[in-house]
Amino acid sequence: MSVQEVKKKAPRDNGAPDHKLNLHPLMLKNYGKWKYYEKVRTGVLKRVAESGDVLYVVRAGSPRTMSVNVIRKICDIADKYCQGFLRFTSRANVEFLVGNEKDVKPLIKAVEKELGFPVGGTGASISNILHTQGWLHCNLPGTDAAGSVKALMDELYKDFVKEKLPNRLKISTSCCSINCGGQADIAINVQHHHPPRVDDKGVGVCEHPKVVAICPVAAIRPTTADGRPSLEVVPEKCMYCGACHGQCPSMEIRDAKTDTLSIWIGGKAASTRKGPSFMKLAVWGLPNNAPRWPEVGEAVKTIVEAYRKGGKPYERLGEWVERIGWKRFFEITGFPFTKYHIDDFKNARATLNTSTHVRL
Ligand code: SF4
Ligand code: SF4
Repeated sequence: MSVQEVKKKAPRDNGAPDHKLNLHPLMLKNYGKWKYYEKVRTGVLKRVAESGDVLYVVRAGSPRTMSVNVIRKICDIADKYCQGFLRFTSRANVEFLVGNEKDVKPLIKAVEKELGFPVGGTGASISNILHTQGWLHCNLPGTDAAGSVKALMDELYKDFVKEKLPNRLKISTSCCSINCGGQADIAINVQHHHPPRVDDKGVGVCEHPKVVAICPVAAIRPTTADGRPSLEVVPEKCMYCGACHGQCPSMEIRDAKTDTLSIWIGGKAASTRKGPSFMKLAVWGLPNNAPRWPEVGEAVKTIVEAYRKGGKPYERLGEWVERIGWKRFFEITGFPFTKYHIDDFKNARATLNTSTHVRL
């Protein structure tokens, strides 16, 4: 194949793209040769390379779900002050990469005035709250993760723009029990409280082997209804995770009357000190009270304030609880310890902690 023919081919759209194509020129020039970084203020980092080059990183909290117009505004600001270079962090912060110190202040002004985004989220602050895809892309949501982020961030804003906690605090909200938001210091998840309701007529159009296979505890089995193939759920085995609902919409698990929210704490992915850790249930049975979820906001603030008061410098939330003990945690926060805090689900294979994402 000639070079001309190769050039004519469309670029590959599968696999990881070459990230170096999108790096800021200073990042590329000093790749692997960065000496240190220092904090200029909350939300602004100064990275210094061995060559003496300096790159400023300005971090702003984005609403995550954005219109094309907002994204264009972000790009215009990046074109003006950052040679067009920016990046999004895994928690949907937008980071502007600035090569000239004189551009930092005007950039911050533009971000705050034109976009209305706060600058912060670095170090011992609350980073932008991560939420799962929700109703925009997913067919499972039992609540509005994006809405609860907005309501929560309104309450926790001061901890995004100032670093006043023992260490960084990552919060996530998920709109079903599957919790595709992953681990976080504080996570808000939906909990269902009964097995899915099977609509025999609708189930007829689902792919039964796939639905049976997706259940993590083998609670679904084939049956017949009115002489036609259908599915049934063994209620004693079902742990109400809702995975089958994603595979077959006629296995409806969501219930506006009984679904609740729970708060899990102590998860982290970092390898620092004690390594990655799983979240554990802290608060059970909060109402799914849209549009502001005030009960959830109060509970999260209680946890944040207790951690602020009791955590030692650099101690992550889970490490603080581990040091003082769970008994003391429940005493300090006043949350009730219930039977649901005990992992006694006998149908789990060993324990559901074997999966990083399903822990009910
Ligand atoms: S948390 Fe559940 S409902 Fe929400 S986006 Fe993830 S899988 Fe879908
Ligand atoms: S809700 Fe989860 S545990 Fe229950 S039947 Fe569906 S997939 Fe299985």
